[in-house]
Amino acid sequence: MAYVIPTPPVAALPIAGSGDLFPVRRVYCVGRNYAAHAREMGGDPTREPPFFFMKPADALQVVPEGQAVDHRYPPKTQNYHFEVELVVVLAKGGRDIPVSEALDHVFGYAVGLDMTRRDLQDEAKQLRRPWELGKAGDFSGPVGPIHPATEVGHPAKGAISLTVDGTVKQKADLSDMVWSVAEQIAYLSSYFELAPGDVIFAGTPEGVGAVTQGQTMVGAIEGLGEIRLRVV
Ligand code: MN
Repeated sequence: MAYVIPTPPVAALPIAGSGDLFPVRRVYCVGRNYAAHAREMGGDPTREPPFFFMKPADALQVVPEGQAVDHRYPPKTQNYHFEVELVVVLAKGGRDIPVSEALDHVFGYAVGLDMTRRDLQDEAKQLRRPWELGKAGDFSGPVGPIHPATEVGHPAKGAISLTVDGTVKQKADLSDMVWSVAEQIAYLSSYFELAPGDVIFAGTPEGVGAVTQGQTMVGAIEGLGEIRLRVV
């Protein structure tokens, strides 16, 4: 049997310092995982259970090592927000993974942006509708090269930041996360069977805001380098 249309390409992310690629299956994103960001979004910063939404695998935008790339301003928004995040990619899957074993499932880490049509997300919240129009847009997940855990370990602390045209907008520490990477993997695996190729955006710190065409965003995480995108 043959496919009746050309097969869609496999979404994939480059590995830092190598010609190899990490194939992407699913993209999970955690919401409100830094207390100060939960407050700025009108939420309660106490340690309520994490919540997740998803982006399609092909919503990721590859940002090659050391290159500035153009990032297309999406349609249907007047309030397009950056959210810099630690991105975690899994080499192993499973169900009901214990916290103590969760990091054994991680292949590596990268810098990513959870780009958000905030006006559409806010409208969805008000109307109690799903978030896809705000969160799952085309190219809404720029991600830099993946740094294997065998090289960088499992970063639990270190600066995470985002600048726009050189002005610092977001600056925090990975240790400010409400739910650790291990806890996120364990929690997610109680709802979904995780698999190799799964990607987790681990949440954004405070300071989210809008960008407009012509501005340049630089997202950085200590030990994982930076990604640079010009909004066009
Ligand atoms: Mn986010």
